Amino acid sequence: MNEGSTCFLYLTTGANAPLFLFASIYSGLGSVKNNHINHHPKILVVDDIPVNIQLLQAFLATQNYKTFIARNGEEALQQVETVEPDLILLDVMMPKMNGFETCRQLKKSEKAKYTPIIMVTALNEIESKIRGIEAGADDFISKPFNKLELLARVRSLLRVKMLHDQLQEKISQLERAKERLRELALTDGLTGLYNYRHFKDVLSMEVRRAERHRISFSLIMFDIDYFKQYNDTHGHLAGDKVLQGIASLVSNNIRKIDVAARYGGEEFAVILPNTPAANARIVAEKLRKLVEQFPFEFQETQPNNRITISVGVSSYPTGGRTFETLVACADKRLYLAKARGKNIVVDEGGC
Ligand SMILES: [Mg+2]
Repeated sequence: MNEGSTCFLYLTTGANAPLFLFASIYSGLGSVKNNHINHHPKILVVDDIPVNIQLLQAFLATQNYKTFIARNGEEALQQVETVEPDLILLDVMMPKMNGFETCRQLKKSEKAKYTPIIMVTALNEIESKIRGIEAGADDFISKPFNKLELLARVRSLLRVKMLHDQLQEKISQLERAKERLRELALTDGLTGLYNYRHFKDVLSMEVRRAERHRISFSLIMFDIDYFKQYNDTHGHLAGDKVLQGIASLVSNNIRKIDVAARYGGEEFAVILPNTPAANARIVAEKLRKLVEQFPFEFQETQPNNRITISVGVSSYPTGGRTFETLVACADKRLYLAKARGKNIVVDEGGC
């Protein structure tokens, strides 16, 4: 089992979602790419004396590190923005901004706050080490430096940096997977519309919002006429295509703030926030017409040679003031629409 599998199991338990969903999520997680294996780590050398820079650069180049230079603290702060080094070698004694202050600034910056910093001190004194630690330095090396010691310290901190980067990458993969899971948990698998669960949440929320702000909103519910007959004649795969076709007709013809959901079977619901009954009727009528005019496969075998929908509309507060009463009202009107011959919108009576 690699690390990816561990995340997979963790998410499975955490979200309590059906297993089949995870195939796609898992493939997205994959294993973390190790950037440090295929690229030479980037080291920023900060020193005010050119010969010191040259010495360090020459040595680091022999170890396959890619070096960048800054001659003072300000340059270092600029360099980290573009170079994004994996490690910084920072001279303590510099004019203007000294190494301690530079270190503090680097650790405050967004780009370098997790970049390890080795302070290069001329004096091997305890006081400057303490100041360095206080400024956020991760390690120290004394000048003139011992090559093996420098190398050991550089390698050890690069390992830390690599682990940190991998962890960050894992975290963002998990965030993306969680986001995807969240979407899946709210979505109807066949049509891509929201599912009943989300519909219920949104409608309940709209009720609370409408109560508080004293605004109205509307609920459209519709179902496909003679759908059982269509399924029985042409099979469920053909029926599924009709459901998908209607779902895209709906989602392409409502506002961004509206919420379309598959209520169940061949029943759909659309929540229209901030929309009074009169306007909801226009939307409902538009959807009814769109479905009626859409050339569905095998429609000629249906009554009237078309796929049609019957539509019920209820609005807050006249049609109901709670989730249950609004749904019951739209549902009753939907059945009135059926009783009156189907392929119509009913937005009054019955409630
Ligand atoms: Mg110096």
